[in-house]
This record gives sequence, C-alpha cells and structure tokens, in this order.
Amino acid sequence: MIRIFLLLIVCLTTLPWTALVMAAAQAPVLQTRTEAPPQVGVVEYLLGEPTADFVDIAAADRQWQILTKPNLGKQREGAWLRFTLHNHGDDAERWYLLLKWPVVDRVAVRLHYPQSERWGTAMLAGDALALSVRPLADHHFVYPLELPPGEPVVVYMQVQAREILALPLELIDEKQLIEGKLRDVTLVSLFFGGILVIVLYNCSLLIFTRDRSYFLYVLYLLSAVFYVLTITGFGQLYLWPEIPELSARFYGLSAALCFFTPMLFALRFLGIRRYGGWVWTVSITLTCYWGLVTLTILLAPLLARYLFMEHVALLHCVLTMAVTLNLWARGNPSARLFSIAWSTLLAFTVINLLALNGTLPLNAWTLNGQLIGMFTEFVLLSMALAERINVERNRRIAAQQLALQASESLAEERALHLQAKQAALDFQLHTNELLEARVFERTRALEEVRQGLEAANAELMRLSTTDALTQLANRRRFDRLLDEEIRRARRSGSPLSVLLADIDHFKRVNDSYGHPFGDECLRQVAAVLAAHCQRAGDVAARYGGEEFVVLLPGLDAEQAFALAESIRCTIANLQLQHGDQPVALTISLGVATLTPALVAPAELLAAADSALYQAKNGGRNQVVLACGINAGEQARVLNA
Ligand code: GH3
Ligand code: MG
Ligand code: MG
Repeated sequence: MIRIFLLLIVCLTTLPWTALVMAAAQAPVLQTRTEAPPQVGVVEYLLGEPTADFVDIAAADRQWQILTKPNLGKQREGAWLRFTLHNHGDDAERWYLLLKWPVVDRVAVRLHYPQSERWGTAMLAGDALALSVRPLADHHFVYPLELPPGEPVVVYMQVQAREILALPLELIDEKQLIEGKLRDVTLVSLFFGGILVIVLYNCSLLIFTRDRSYFLYVLYLLSAVFYVLTITGFGQLYLWPEIPELSARFYGLSAALCFFTPMLFALRFLGIRRYGGWVWTVSITLTCYWGLVTLTILLAPLLARYLFMEHVALLHCVLTMAVTLNLWARGNPSARLFSIAWSTLLAFTVINLLALNGTLPLNAWTLNGQLIGMFTEFVLLSMALAERINVERNRRIAAQQLALQASESLAEERALHLQAKQAALDFQLHTNELLEARVFERTRALEEVRQGLEAANAELMRLSTTDALTQLANRRRFDRLLDEEIRRARRSGSPLSVLLADIDHFKRVNDSYGHPFGDECLRQVAAVLAAHCQRAGDVAARYGGEEFVVLLPGLDAEQAFALAESIRCTIANLQLQHGDQPVALTISLGVATLTPALVAPAELLAAADSALYQAKNGGRNQVVLACGINAGEQARVLNA
C-alpha cells in the first residue's frame, strides 16, 4: 500500500516537471504573456563596469553581446543588460518588468528615450537594499515602465550579486501583475499551511516522545521555511523589509541551513554513526562543511565565496543519495522512505542548481519547483517518522511482553523461593520445638535427678549424723556442734554447759529383759532427753552405748544442773513395763560448764565425765556438777 502511494507521489511530482523543464528550454530570455505586448528587441549584456553610470554605459561604444539564456553565472563585477521596447499603439502604456529571482543583491533599471534624448528616473531593488527604495513593493523585483506611443525606449539594467546572476525576466501588464501575485501568494500560503501542519504534528510528536529526531526535523522544516521565504521574496516583503545588510546574506544562509539541518536530522534519524566507514565519514564531513558555511555567512560573509557552495551542493546531492541508498540496502528500517523523500527533493534541487548554473533553462518551474519537491519530501519524511513510531511501538510491545514474561517467571521463581523458605522455616520451627521439648525434658529429668541427689545427700547427711536407734544426733555431729558452740560462747562470753548421762546398771536390764527391751529403754531415755532440749541450740546426742550427752548453750552451771535434775527425775518416774512386770530405770548425770579454765571440748567432756563418774560412785540416780560439787552440796546450792 505504502509502496504504491510512494510510486504515485514520485511519478506525480517528477515526471510532469521534467516535461515542463524541457518545454521551457525553448522560451525567450524576456518572457511576455500577453496577446499584444510591446515590441521587444534583443536582450544584450555587458559584463563588469560596476562603477559606470547609465549615461556612460549608453554613450560609450562597447561590445554588447546577445543574452541567450537568463543566466550569467557568477559575476563578481556584476553586469549590464539592455533591450529595446517599442509601443506601436496610439496611447502611452505602462508595463511592468519583473525579475523573478528576488535574491539578487542590487538591480537598478533606467529607461532611455533616444528620440527625445531623455532619461527616466533610476529604479532600484535588491535584497541588499531596503524594501522602501523599490519603485513597487512586491515579492519580486518589479519596475514600472512608461512607454510613450510610437517611441522606442531602451531599458538599461545594472545587476549585481554575490551569488549566481540568475535573471528570469518577464514583461507583463498590470492585470498579469496582480494575477501573478495572487497566484504566488496562494501557492506559498498553501506551502506554508502544509508545512505548518507538519511542524505542529512533529512538535507534538517531539513533546510526547522526547525524541531528538523530531526536534532536528522541525529545525529542518524551519530552515526550509526560511529558504522559501527568501527565494520567493515574501520574506523581505513581509518579514525583514528594512535590514538589507542581513537580508543580502539570507539566500546563502538559508540554502546552507537547508543542507546543514537535514544532515543533522539524517545523522540522528538514520543512526548513521552506527554504520561507521565511508557512510559516516561522508555524512559527518558534509555536516561539518555546512555548519562551517553557515557560520562563515553569519560571521564573515566576505569569505563565503571561497567555500564553493554551488559545487559542493551538487556533490552533496550525489553523496547523500549514495549514503541513504547504501543504508537502505543494509536494512536500515527508516532509510527506505528517507531515500525516496530525499531523492524527490534532490531531483528538484539538482534541477534548480543546474538551472542556476545555466545548464538547464531558468524559469518559474526550475526556480520554484523546489517548493513542491520540499513539500513532497516533508510529507514523506513525516510518514517515515510516523512509520518509525509504529516500528518502535511494536518493538516496545514486544519488549513489554518479554518483560512481562520475565517478571512472571521471576514471580514464579520468587513464589518457589518463598515456598522453600517457608518449608525451611517450618522445619526449623518444628526442629526448634522438638529441641525445646527435649531440652525441657532433659532439664526436668536433670532437676529430678538433682532433687533426688539432694534428697539422697540430705538423707545421707542425716544418716551420717543421726543415731539409728534413738534418732538423736550421733557423736560425730555432737562433736562438731560442741566445737562450734564453744567457739561462739567464747566469742560472745555467754555460758555453755554439757550433761553426760549414763543409764544405771543397764547391763542388768539387758540381761534381765533382753536386748530388744534394752533398745526400747534407750529410745525412752532418748525421748526424755529430746523433750528437754526445747531451746534453739540445745542438742541431745547418743554418746555411745547407753551413754548420752546434752549440749546446752546459754545455760550456766546452775541452770544446767536444774535441767539435769529434771531429766533424772523424769526418767526415774518413767513407768516402763516388760510384759506385766514394771521395770525401774534411773540415770546418772555429770554436768560441766564452760569456765575460763575449761575451754577445750575434750576438757569440758572430761570434766563432765569425771562428774558422771562421781555420780556413779556417789550411788547412782544423781546429778553431779563438775569440779567436785556433789549432789548434797548441789541440793544445798539449789535450796539456797
Ligand atoms: P553402771 O551402773 O556402772 O553403768 O553399770 P552398767 O551395767 O550400766 O555398766 P556396763 O558398762 O558394765 O554395762 C553397759 C551395758 O550396756 C553393756 C551392754 O550390753 C549394754 N549395752 C550397750 N549398748 C547397748 C545397746 O545398744 N543395746 C542394748 N540392749 N544394750 C546395750
Ligand atoms: Mg556405761
Ligand atoms: Mg551404765
């Protein structure tokens, strides 16, 4: 579809133009389009003489030559033109001489009436002159020619231009002038309207896509607008009428920009750098060259003529065509439309350049055909840009799909990863729970063992310090406690007493009633002793066999004696029975109290033992206080 469209555009634009150009080749230098024009003589020219005035030129005998084509090439010194007009009518007529290449620097026209030997006023126009000096404000250079009836008039023109001296001349009447202007305004308005649409379209693309290609393209479009405004003369007519020193440079400047900006655009749009090699070298060299030309025209316009713009321009067309075709062949997606668009404009540019060089006839078609070429190119390039949007959109969609797939697989992977992590976590949790349970179990078991051990220890301790028969403290424990209590008593100065008790004639009890009964007697005596140890620190212990010992911290001799007496009485009053037979049981007790002379445990016990010995000797069933105090004396002491 696009191909057919492109083919159609190329055919429509190039074929008729070629035909028209060829047809125009036969046209006379000074064209007239009316049915009854004044008689026009041969157009002659003379090169140079830039400083001569009209009268000199007319008077002197010079070698005028016939102008066969409306082009004098590059003439730095300028040139003179002349031709005769003869109004054969009966009335004076006014005609207009048009120069339809309004970028010539300066064109002065003056009429000479040879019969009456008079001169008309000099009329000036040119892009190096302000618009206000022109005889008529028009986009072309227009000179009104007053032709008196029956009298020949010689028109003299002095033309000067830094660029090529193209001279498309036309002789028309007022009606044609107005019609021509209307036609040109319509054409140019159509062109600018179309370009405006393309500029706005590309500006909006630029805003939405932020792609620099569109910016460069808009720059190119604006350069083209500038160029067209310049070569049609509308720029000077409407936009820059009074800046001749600048407007004189605008033709060269806009032309250079029309080579420079599309190169910038092509570099970016076609991505030429990627290809490297001669394609890149040629492109960048041309771009730099046109950049240099642009700067030179702006900053040092006098040097511009050494840059050979016209020749390089032709070369440029060929080279860039080769570059775009090469890129097309190498599969650059945008190169196809670009090449077609570019070739359309290049065809018209080549025609234009050849016409300006004098190879092709210079006429409206060869001069302004570029407008159509440009417009076609811009439409095609906009299509290329739009096509690229399409290509990029497809690419983006593909990329998005890829990204979506990637993110989906990533999500799956993540889900799997999370699952694995969760499983690991669960496993760890379970393991932890097991471990905790096991630790708890172990701790509990250990605690039980520890408690068992403690209990066993305590039991062992108890067993090792307790007498098994009487459940009183045994001798080992007593000895330890005695040691501690003696030390405490000595520290605090409090009294301490011990009782040593021995059952009287116990051997007999055993012998008479048997050993088990003897054991029972021992338990009964122990119970009495324990019952008398009521205060904290009082300890009753089995000292060995049927001997007992009582430790009484805090009791002095008197109090200890009283307690011993109470014990003795209690035991004596026990009513023990072996079967039906009452059994009497008595004990003897020795009491010893801690004194400054009696401080060692062994000494205290020895004193108590000695007192007990005395009690035995004294008849048993009595208490003896150590240091020789016997029972009788004790009784006295007590009674006293
Ligand atoms: P004395 O009044 O002089 O103390 O005379 P005694 O018979 O009590 O003294 P002796 O030392 O001659 O006798 C002590 C007896 O105590 C001898 C022994 O059989 C008895 N005996 C010692 N230990 C135990 C015991 O654990 N159980 C029993 N049933 N008898 C014991
Ligand atoms: Mg004994
Ligand atoms: Mg005894």
